[in-house]
Amino acid sequence: MGTIIGAGASMLREDDVSTNGSGAEATAADVDLDVVVVGAGFAGMYLLHRLRGLGLSARVIEAGADVGGTWYWNRYPGARCDIQSVDYSYSFDPELDETWKWTEKYAPQPEILRYAQHVADKHDLRRDIQFSTRVESAVWDESASRWQLRTSDGRTITSRFYVMATGCLSMPKEVDIAGTDRFAGEVYFTSRWPHEGVDLSGKRVGVIGTGSSAIQSIPIMAAEAAQLTVFQRTPNFSMPANNGPIPQEKLDALAKGRPQYREAARWSGAGVTVEISTTSALAVSEEERLAKYEDVWEHGGIIQVINSYMDNLVNPAANELLCEFVRNKIRATVNDPETAEALCPKTFPIGTKRLCVDTGYYETFNRPNVRLVDLREHPIASITETGVDLVDESLEFDVIVFATGFDAMTGAIVGVDITGRDGLTLKQAWSEGPKTYLGLMAAGFPNLFMITGPGSPSVLSNMMVSIEQHVDWIADCIDQLRADGLSTIEPTPAAVDGWVQHVNDYASITLMPQANSWYMGANVPGKPRVFLPYAGGVDRYRTICNEVVADDYLGFERRGPDGQRRNDGVVRRVQPDVQLMLEAMAGMNLPTMDSMSAAEAREFSNAIAAQRAPGPDVGEIVDGVLPGAAGDLTYRLYRPASPGPHPIVVYFHGGGWVLGSHDSDDPLCRDLCVRSDAILVSVDYRHAPEARFPAAADDAFAATQWIAENAAALGGIPGDLAVAGWSAGGNLAAIVSQLARDAGGPRILGQLLLTPVTDCDFSRASYTENADGYVLTTPLMHWFWNHYADPEDRTSPKASPIRAESLADLPPAMVVTCEFDPLRDEGAAYAEALAAAGVPVRHLPCRGQIHTSLPAVDMLLSGVQIRAEMAAAIRGFFTANVPA
Ligand SMILES: Cc1cc2nc3c(=O)[nH]c(=O)nc-3n(C[C@H](O)[C@H](O)[C@H](O)COP(=O)(O)OP(=O)(O)OC[C@H]3O[C@@H](n4cnc5c(N)ncnc54)[C@H](O)[C@@H]3O)c2cc1C
Repeated sequence: MGTIIGAGASMLREDDVSTNGSGAEATAADVDLDVVVVGAGFAGMYLLHRLRGLGLSARVIEAGADVGGTWYWNRYPGARCDIQSVDYSYSFDPELDETWKWTEKYAPQPEILRYAQHVADKHDLRRDIQFSTRVESAVWDESASRWQLRTSDGRTITSRFYVMATGCLSMPKEVDIAGTDRFAGEVYFTSRWPHEGVDLSGKRVGVIGTGSSAIQSIPIMAAEAAQLTVFQRTPNFSMPANNGPIPQEKLDALAKGRPQYREAARWSGAGVTVEISTTSALAVSEEERLAKYEDVWEHGGIIQVINSYMDNLVNPAANELLCEFVRNKIRATVNDPETAEALCPKTFPIGTKRLCVDTGYYETFNRPNVRLVDLREHPIASITETGVDLVDESLEFDVIVFATGFDAMTGAIVGVDITGRDGLTLKQAWSEGPKTYLGLMAAGFPNLFMITGPGSPSVLSNMMVSIEQHVDWIADCIDQLRADGLSTIEPTPAAVDGWVQHVNDYASITLMPQANSWYMGANVPGKPRVFLPYAGGVDRYRTICNEVVADDYLGFERRGPDGQRRNDGVVRRVQPDVQLMLEAMAGMNLPTMDSMSAAEAREFSNAIAAQRAPGPDVGEIVDGVLPGAAGDLTYRLYRPASPGPHPIVVYFHGGGWVLGSHDSDDPLCRDLCVRSDAILVSVDYRHAPEARFPAAADDAFAATQWIAENAAALGGIPGDLAVAGWSAGGNLAAIVSQLARDAGGPRILGQLLLTPVTDCDFSRASYTENADGYVLTTPLMHWFWNHYADPEDRTSPKASPIRAESLADLPPAMVVTCEFDPLRDEGAAYAEALAAAGVPVRHLPCRGQIHTSLPAVDMLLSGVQIRAEMAAAIRGFFTANVPA
């Protein structure tokens, strides 16, 4: 056996990579194959099986001396899976499920490795795997449409397809501590633990790192060593494995039908069937919440804990409740209060780093031979010949164990020198962070596939399920290319950019990016900070991958001797939370409003409004009455909590002049009031068809005049007046601005027009592109206009403000439009026309949003930034900060 080599050198054992591979014999001559696969972990093994089934020539190249990947390398004491073994196992071969019996709920590493070896034996995989060989470079040969690979044994292999099954957590991170190679004692890495084991008895051991591997191994090392010192930079959340026999309910679920059980996992969010809460942690009593936490803590696993409440990963307040529950568990376990506090994570939300699973980790700190060194208080100055020098103390060790983690998700991929089309290297292409389509392929690298690559659910899931899905997709794709007589496939740059955007959009509606985690590349100095996995879930991701195929490989270009097929496009353009809302609504099979009478539609929209989140608290709400153009109107005033007087915004609700009230837009008004620190007065103007054009416009103007005159009495600053409105309300705000200009007052300092109706012309492209499927439909707009105004009235500027003779001298404006809204283009046209008339205007186009996104306060997190910008625009109106 080779010696373990210290930091700075290759992390591989010296005897693992040799020139004399076992398994598949490396022939002296160059080899040409259909497919080369790098890595013989669970991914490479299953892929080899599938490729053989397709009759393709394939070879796997593996740096280690046997199959198993993760489970071949990570042999540290206590290494186990953190997903129950029944779930963390292959599903492609039902016989395996019948014949292989897991001994424990969470099997230990030797058992998982034996399982991998058993699968290799059963399917005779090793004859096509070249072990102890590293792929060092891969170059795309455009003229031959083939990859040319160089391996560590100095040979060249060419292949049509090249698959990186190199694993997300297979490239150990370089140790970045001064003096690492000075230490004269024994050095071990958890990720490259010696096959023969290590005798720690009677030794002084220092462990650097407190990630998952450390948390699993520390209790066992502590029981053996004379002294154990744990160096902790950032504490992690860990939960007890409660390991033991496979739980009865698991066995019962399996007994009911394995195929259904496996299929349910494939269509679950994390690749494991668990109950997904639809309740907010903030919506239940403390007693109920604690009971739920205790239940998942005792009987569940990491996925159940994180899914205990629906908002754990999106709402900081909900997340903090779970954090505190876990911290209290730590405090209750660790005797020394100072050590307990140091072990309590406080710098990141729970679940934003993979929750660890342990057996006796926190209890270990009650042992007399164990000490915790909090590196935030006592940083390491240097590793020395005899141990570790802290800034304030020198410690001596016989053994140092590095549990310092991995260059996750991208490390092993860019660890091979990959050069694609036109000499572009993958390292260059990914210099700002990985850019993939579906985590499967990169633009400029034809026929190069990645399994569980960045941009796929991968490490956020039960990886077995994700691996099988990727392998199947890739194998089916290669098979389809062959059937179609095509030889290459590559994603288009637009598809890649769209996917990267979608992955970022998903991450940014969660708390995930808030942690300095390896999900963010934050553990590796110099690595770009981008959220690497896809947070949308295994089920949603599978749907997307299937859709791409069904849509004739949307976003891909395929070529062959007979020409090329380019199907450019972006697979998900709607914001993820908006998409979820649309899916939920589609599932309800709601009737369309344009099929109803006005009264029915009002009842229906009121019922929907009643289910919304209430919006934030404001200082005060006052309901009142003011004189409209033809009788009294009700209004609702929202006053900020700060001391007044405040500027006033007159607000007009949406609803196509037919529906709505100050109730319907209540959450949005609260939100704008809190964010802008202005009074909002929401006016309930008369509605059609009872009061048709120009009743709403006349009421809106009359109300604005009255509010201007009574500003002081309302607690406002006289003269500090702006107007705002959403949809038909945006139409009214624009019209009021024109009427006030023409009448010489009141003076309006700004107009905030949210997805406004500005014209009666239905010929703009957004009416066709977004005619259906995004809540406000083109037929519904016809229905609104028909109720509101006769055709001859619609072209009046009092109905279609874009048709005004002049738009000059109007108040500064912010116009907000949403990408998937029939009204998008007329809003944009109004912004353009205002600008052309010399009005200071800011047009804010909202990518991936729909007409009803903006009022969905506290429901659509992707709208938060937009509302912040709207409020900033309101503040700008009153400080003469003209929008730019
Ligand atoms: C300690 C630990 C515990 C884990 N527990 C769980 C769990 O409980 N549940 C879960 O879902 N996931 C877990 N994971 C994630 C785990 O990595 C995956 O579940 C799965 O094993 C990955 O399989 P893979 O085949 O994709 O990659 P790997 O198993 O990492 O295999 C990749 C192989 O590629 C080889 N390789 C890489 N580069 C080259 C090259 N250039 N040339 C030749 N060979 C190369 C490596 O030697 C390696 O053997 C764990 C990971 C670790 C490290």
